[in-house]
Amino acid sequence: MIASIKHFIKTFTLFELLQGLSITGKYFFKRKITVQYPEQKTPISPRFRGHHALRRYPNGEERCIACKLCEAACPALAITIDLEERADGTRRTTRYDIDMFKCIYCGFCEEACPVDAIVETQIFEYHFEERGDHIKTKEVLLAFGDKHEAEIAKHRVSDAPYR
Ligand code: SF4
Ligand code: SF4
Repeated sequence: MIASIKHFIKTFTLFELLQGLSITGKYFFKRKITVQYPEQKTPISPRFRGHHALRRYPNGEERCIACKLCEAACPALAITIDLEERADGTRRTTRYDIDMFKCIYCGFCEEACPVDAIVETQIFEYHFEERGDHIKTKEVLLAFGDKHEAEIAKHRVSDAPYR
């Protein structure tokens, strides 16, 4: 009963509309900020989901164990994996492709990976120059991971308490 009276008063006095307008009014007179991108950049969360990378262990061994969990978790069917068993009984991918046109940057592949092999970096400024460049192959993803490993590792550490 009390709740419905409160609701009636709020509706009758347009309380919520005025509340919203007060916030608009507050920011209307504040100094406006324009970020001069690309010279200036805003901070990016360590959880940002940009260009993918495949990581290696410090000894150079690929982290990926070809378990295919990322492929199964991908809702966009953007990942294609082929694999083989090595002489020592371990499994490694012979093909690891991500179709960047299909990818919706949901991060499910990263979440599904048990060994932190596939990750999404903070790099979002990239483009394709040739037809077919949108398919990121294992070699490209590993090279990308090698190039940005220091940054990737730093962001994984800073995000670890929240995972
Ligand atoms: S980010 Fe999402 S859509 Fe993109 S490859 Fe990973 S699981 Fe698939
Ligand atoms: S990237 Fe991770 S989840 Fe995907 S196949 Fe390799 S180990 Fe499995």
